[in-house]
Amino acid sequence: MPLTSDHVYNALRTVNDPDLQKDLVTLNMVKDVQIDGEKVALNIELTTPACPLKDKIEDDIVAAVKAKGKEMGETVSEVKVEFSADVKKAENKGKDNPLPNVKHVIAVGAGKGGVGKSTIAVSLAIGLARMGAKVGLLDGDIYGPSLKTMLGLEDLPTKSSDKTLLAFEAHGIKAMTIAKLVPDDKALIWRGPMAHGAFKQLATQTDWGELDYLIVDLPPGTGDVPLTLAQLLPLSGAVVVCTPQKVARNDALRAIKMFQQLGVNVLGIVENMSYFIGDDGKSYDIFGRGGAQMLAQELALPFLGAVPIHMQLRVNCDSGEPLKNWDNPQLADELDTLCKNLASQISIATLSGKLVQPTLSIT
Ligand code: ADP
Repeated sequence: MPLTSDHVYNALRTVNDPDLQKDLVTLNMVKDVQIDGEKVALNIELTTPACPLKDKIEDDIVAAVKAKGKEMGETVSEVKVEFSADVKKAENKGKDNPLPNVKHVIAVGAGKGGVGKSTIAVSLAIGLARMGAKVGLLDGDIYGPSLKTMLGLEDLPTKSSDKTLLAFEAHGIKAMTIAKLVPDDKALIWRGPMAHGAFKQLATQTDWGELDYLIVDLPPGTGDVPLTLAQLLPLSGAVVVCTPQKVARNDALRAIKMFQQLGVNVLGIVENMSYFIGDDGKSYDIFGRGGAQMLAQELALPFLGAVPIHMQLRVNCDSGEPLKNWDNPQLADELDTLCKNLASQISIATLSGKLVQPTLSIT
């Protein structure tokens, strides 16, 4: 009996998205099924272009469709799987959303300065964009903005229309930083209410267009800006950047507790400066590799990945050429892992209904 699209759908009911733990038909991911003689072609719509499990899903589909063919006594010589992606928006029942065209806002925080929070924020934004997502990056570190340098925005003109700032476009992402709005020599000392106002303006008066992910690089520590952010925008969650040393853990823990107290879902921990590979090719665990991973385990939080100390990372950040980080295959691999794990945590939280914005109450 010839294979029909109903048979193929039945086969796909046996293939689960391993992250979302439901089958592809129930998840409404099957967008097109074409059967031409012995050949089957499918389009599967993922919940993120950065899906870490594409290969596994493809292998499972091919096996399931071929098995179905065998069951029907038909030869299936080829199963061609094409992937597309539609990032699902979190349901926002809590409050008016000033950025309705942004599907997910993700804060990147750290317990203290210098751990590579901005470097990781830039890497996440650019990595997700390289995989096909529409991404924005907001420099929320209004006391020490570094994105002008890290993204090489110095020579780009600042443009606005009416009361709206146009986001800068660089390296495949949209970006905004206070450093393009005030002179370089003006020390950015803000009192609490001014910091609140400056951040609010940057976030909500920038024309971001349509975005899948808006990454917000927060100031280090537990100050006013995270509080403003949590009050202002429906956050999909936060990423906490940490170095592996034991002494760094308490700082990271404070940042994690702050997000949790604000009702913000902690999507995962990143271990930066995890290890160093010398010219001899050996890996050196300078700061005690695995410390942040252990912290994640103890707190039952996702561990998103580890980034080595890499001179090229520092050089590319200083020269405003972050895309060059992907020229190094090992570094590219570590950065892509972070992005995929983050995207997958966002999809899991969205589909599990975890992302309904809580009502913020501070006591
Ligand atoms: P933070 O935002 O936490 O203050 P930054 O991202 O500004 O930290 O990083 C501080 C400095 O360390 C920058 O010069 C940056 O290029 C460098 N840096 C960060 N992570 C790494 C890394 N994994 N390898 C090499 N240099 C790094």
